[in-house]
Amino acid sequence: MERITERALRVAPSLTLAITAKGNKMKAEGMDVVSFAAGEPDFNTPAYINDKAREALDKGITKYTPSSGTVELRKAIAAKLLKDNGLSYEPSQIVVSNGAKHSLYNACLALVNPGDEVLIPAPYWLTYPELVLLCEGVPAYIEAGAENNFKITPAQLEKAITDKTKALILNNPSNPTGTLYTKDELFALAAVIEKAGIYVISDEIYEELVYDGLKMESIASYSDTLKNNTIVVNGLSKAYSMTGWRIGYTASSKDLAAAMDNMQSHTTSNPNSIAQYASVAALSDPAGDAFRKELKATFTRRRDLMVNLLSNMKPLIYVRPQGAFYVMAGIENLVGKSYAGKTITTAADFAGLLVDHAQTVTIPCEAFGAPMFIRLSYAIADAQIEKGLARIKEFVAKLV
Ligand code: PMP
Repeated sequence: MERITERALRVAPSLTLAITAKGNKMKAEGMDVVSFAAGEPDFNTPAYINDKAREALDKGITKYTPSSGTVELRKAIAAKLLKDNGLSYEPSQIVVSNGAKHSLYNACLALVNPGDEVLIPAPYWLTYPELVLLCEGVPAYIEAGAENNFKITPAQLEKAITDKTKALILNNPSNPTGTLYTKDELFALAAVIEKAGIYVISDEIYEELVYDGLKMESIASYSDTLKNNTIVVNGLSKAYSMTGWRIGYTASSKDLAAAMDNMQSHTTSNPNSIAQYASVAALSDPAGDAFRKELKATFTRRRDLMVNLLSNMKPLIYVRPQGAFYVMAGIENLVGKSYAGKTITTAADFAGLLVDHAQTVTIPCEAFGAPMFIRLSYAIADAQIEKGLARIKEFVAKLV
């Protein structure tokens, strides 16, 4: 008898961890390492939120809450969804979980039966296929190439839908590409989805991080039918720099919300009571507006810096991102080139060489469905961006 289940064995170990661990080890040894691996804003959680966590402790808010979250927090989330996204939900349609990742897992558990196909535009955030596999579903990829700004088209979507398709996982704005669908582009996809009668898991975690005066539209706002068939996923991790607090949520139809709540009640119970209490303030206090504005201004400046520097690094291909805090750099033009006897065939080779010979950590995107790209996060100081890109430029010039 096998000791470990097929389900567990199906899940891939994280490829990105190895390279990040190597960079961290070099740093610990005192080397001057620049890391473009960050997956979280380099801001402290704002003081007005931290104060509320202390208040929660003083008030003894340290006990179980309803498994789907406190009514106060679900009301605050419903108010946010109405104000920012024009989506009307009752608190009973909201389930608060331990981070948006947990919300995504609940969403997959509620929607995906063994053998169901789940469409995932590629490049994708590496966790999506693994969640689908955990639910014994089948990830089905739609290639969104750099030539189309990493966006899928309605025709591609239509072609990818089969009688086994249950849902599409859409990440807008996207990690790792930084792509943002315009309202027209999104609604053109929505029309295909509604006609096919499939479901959408809409990961909107990077909503606040959109640039160029643009705004993220939620696909659920297309129609009542689509809203009923969409699980909106969002959370406080990125918008309020609260990654460690682990607060994410779903908004969905009542039956899906009840199913997710039911499963959560038997697996993790409620998310942290202190974090929930502070999250009500995070979402409702006007101080949040100032924080999000500062966050957006900082990341706009860094996005511009990144893109300006990359535009002078000819062999690397990139698409100007309009959201999140990542840029993908294509290494196709470097394939076949070598350094110190090592020839580059995929992104992992290039990223490996960069760590070893330029003390610069980047994320190879094999696990993101883009083996010819590295991902560069600009959730780091401007000076680090400049230093790291200068190192990459210098290193690329040394390739033979
Ligand atoms: N979705 C995407 C696309 C992400 O990049 C992340 C965080 N890296 C998450 C969801 C998960 O966020 P959380 O920390 O709230 O679980």
